[in-house]
Amino acid sequence: MPRIEIICVGNELLMGSTVNTNASWLSQKIYKLGCVTARHTVVGDDVDSIAEAVREALKRRTDLLIVTGGLGPTYDDKTLKGVAKALRRKLEVNKEALKQVEAKYRELAERGVIAKFELTPSRVKIATLPSKSIPIRNPVGIAPAVIINYKTSKIICLPGVPAEVKAIFTESVAPIIKQMVGDLFVAEGCLEVKSLPESSIAPILDKVVERRRGVYVKSHPRGFEGSEPKLEIYISVTKPSKAEAEAVKEEVLSELATAICEAGGEVRRKQP
Ligand code: ATP
Ligand code: MG
Repeated sequence: MPRIEIICVGNELLMGSTVNTNASWLSQKIYKLGCVTARHTVVGDDVDSIAEAVREALKRRTDLLIVTGGLGPTYDDKTLKGVAKALRRKLEVNKEALKQVEAKYRELAERGVIAKFELTPSRVKIATLPSKSIPIRNPVGIAPAVIINYKTSKIICLPGVPAEVKAIFTESVAPIIKQMVGDLFVAEGCLEVKSLPESSIAPILDKVVERRRGVYVKSHPRGFEGSEPKLEIYISVTKPSKAEAEAVKEEVLSELATAICEAGGEVRRKQP
């Protein structure tokens, strides 16, 4: 299983004014591809903090490091400077990235969004990447994403705008992860349980996951309904084929439901 980490860059994330939806969206997608993200890190718009977070992730032998945010033209977009510092690489105008940025601004000028086409220093900044970077097309925004191969690790820098993260991930990053992970399929299920506290469920869960590889079961207490405890049990099964994942999921769901009923709980299947 590859080790994947995510670093999100942005003062607004640390201030709490923006919810870090990029980390959760990316991790959900990565999970559906068969891999659990090993760590999320959030740092501010500061070159040294970014460089330190990148260096630490690489020290943990991370195979794929995804960095989001801070690829734009403004003074506070410092991600590539931070990554270059961590890798001791120079920042240089990347020809291919500049072509992509130029094409975007020409199109904006043709559509009348900007008064005239011009490659200003702020626009050239977007195409200034650490040396040996590979730019990736941004289908919905201006800043290209960036792939950097460093020793045995791959670093992928994505913009911060959630719509851009989603489009670039789907088009260019998911196929890379799929290749790293190989053929793995995830089947998910959920049970809603009433009238049994979590402490009574715990031994049932232990028994179900014991001796089963690729099965993850987690209970989520949902408080009380009247005086009755209520909780949800989330099940996910990762296997090399979809049919096997589905079959094991069904087996686990019915084994859990039977054991919970026998212990006096009420069970209902729910959409995960
Ligand atoms: P831009 O070219 O727009 O400056 P950028 O790559 O520099 O893009 P940021 O400036 O970091 O990205 O963020 C752009 C927008 O996306 C901001 O509104 C920011 O709040 C939002 N954003 C950034 N990071 C995240 C995140 N992790 N989760 C959700 N939203 C985010
Ligand atoms: Mg920005």
